[in-house]
Amino acid sequence: MADTKSGRDKQARDEERRQIRRDISEARERGDEADPTADPPAECHRRGCAEPVAFSVTERYQEETGAGAVEATAFLCADHAGDESPVNLDDAYEGYVFRVEPVAAGAGGN
Ligand SMILES: [Zn+2]
Repeated sequence: MADTKSGRDKQARDEERRQIRRDISEARERGDEADPTADPPAECHRRGCAEPVAFSVTERYQEETGAGAVEATAFLCADHAGDESPVNLDDAYEGYVFRVEPVAAGAGGN
């Protein structure tokens, strides 16, 4: 009998997590998510924060459906970058990455 309460709870959690990942990949396809090779945005990615971007925070983990690695990058101000921590350690694999890199401020452009 797989239809236990804990089994259903796990299923609901998995569904929730899949939804989050779909949101990430859809945002990338729409081009909302910053491409690391493109110019970084000028302002922090956090809603309501207008501080200048100081760091890019990237996490790469294994998509548990077997679709391959997923890489999510956010450009954040120094304060918000300091708040970031790995959130997908459950899906870590040998290529797992959690990376914080400084973003050169004012390199070219205004
Ligand atoms: Zn911020």
